[in-house]
Amino acid sequence: MARDDHRFPCARCGAQLRYAPGQTRLTCNYCGFEQDIPPQTAEARVRATQELDLARGLRNDLASADMVEVRTTTCPNCGAKLELSSASIATVCPFCATPLILDTGTLSQIRPQALIPFTLTEAEARAAMISWMGSLWFAPGTLLEYARKGRALAGIYVPFWTFDADTDSRYSGERGEYYYETRTVSVRVNGRMERRQEQVRKTRWYPASGRVSRDFDDVLVMASRSLPPRLGSELTPWDLGALTAYTPEFLAGFQAEGYTVPLASGHSEARERMSEVIREDVRRDIGGDEQRIDDVNTDWSDETFKHILLPVWMAAYRYNGRSYRFVVNGQTGEVQGERPWSVWKIAGAVVFGAVLILGAVYLSNPEALGLPPPAWTN
Ligand SMILES: [Zn+2]
Ligand SMILES: [Zn+2]
Repeated sequence: MARDDHRFPCARCGAQLRYAPGQTRLTCNYCGFEQDIPPQTAEARVRATQELDLARGLRNDLASADMVEVRTTTCPNCGAKLELSSASIATVCPFCATPLILDTGTLSQIRPQALIPFTLTEAEARAAMISWMGSLWFAPGTLLEYARKGRALAGIYVPFWTFDADTDSRYSGERGEYYYETRTVSVRVNGRMERRQEQVRKTRWYPASGRVSRDFDDVLVMASRSLPPRLGSELTPWDLGALTAYTPEFLAGFQAEGYTVPLASGHSEARERMSEVIREDVRRDIGGDEQRIDDVNTDWSDETFKHILLPVWMAAYRYNGRSYRFVVNGQTGEVQGERPWSVWKIAGAVVFGAVLILGAVYLSNPEALGLPPPAWTN
C-alpha cells in the first residue's frame, strides 16, 4: 500500500515549499524559489473523475491502488483526524483551537482521488471573513480585532464523499383537487342578522400511481464531523468541474483531514437526500392542487462514489470561554460562521427598542401607563 510523502524541500535553501493558491506551483517562503507542479498526465485526469464501485467500497474490497496508509493525530476535543504530513504539523486543532498531542497512529483509508486546489490565498480569505463579520452589526468589536490581528487562518483540505445513482421509483398516493361550494351563512351587521353567500374550498381526492426516474450525479456529503454540519453544507456551491487528480504537491503547506464518516454512513445520508428529491418528483408527477404519498419504492442502480478533498480556510477563536468557528470556501470565498453575540450591543438595542415602544404607547394612550397626558395635548 502506498504511503504519501508530502515533503517538498526547496532546491535552493532546503526549507519546505508550499503550494501557492491559485497557481500551479510551489513556492519557498524563505528564498522565493518557485517550482512548477508537473502538468497532469492524461491518465491522472481520467483518475480524477473516475467513479468507484459502491458495492465494492461498502464491502471493503477496493483495489490496493485505491487505498492509502496515512499517519494521523486525533484531536482530543472534537475528534478531527488530522493527517500528519512532514510539511505541516499543527500544534493546535484548526477546528476547535485545542492543543494537539502528537501521538500518531497509521490508518488505512480510501485514497482521495481528486481535490479542488485552493484558489484563495490566506490574505484573500481573511479579507472575505472580516468583511463578512463586519456586516454583522451585533458581532463583538473585540472579535473583529482578533480576526484582524490574530493568528493565520488554517488552510485545510476537508474530506467529502460524492455519490452517483440511477433511480427508478414506483409510487402510489392520491391527488387532491380543489372545488368550491357555495353556502349561505348568517352574519350580524349593525345588530341585525343578514344572510350571505360564501365560497368554501373543498378537496376531492383521486387515487394516483405511477413511475418517476432520475439519475443523480455527485451528491456531496461531508466526510467529517469536525465542521458543524450547517457550516460545511452551506459553503456551497462548489465548482466540481475544477476537480484535479490528487497529487501531494497541492497539499504542501496545508493540512488534510482524514475522513471520520465511514463510506456506509455517507452513503445513507446521500440516499436520504436523493429520496427527498424523488418525493418532490413524485408530487410533481401526481399533480393536482395537493398530493398524498402513500408509498415509494425505489430501485437504485449503477451506484458509484468518489472520495475528494475540498479547500477550506478556517479560523477558530475563543471568546468569553466559547470557541467560534468561521470557514471560508477556499475556491469561491463564500463565508459561513457561528455568530457570537455581543451582549452589550444586544442589551443596548433591547433597551432602546423598549424606550421607543413605551414612548409610542405614552403618546397614543397615556392612561394605559397610569400617567397624565403630555402637556401639549391639554
Ligand atoms: Zn528556499
Ligand atoms: Zn479539535
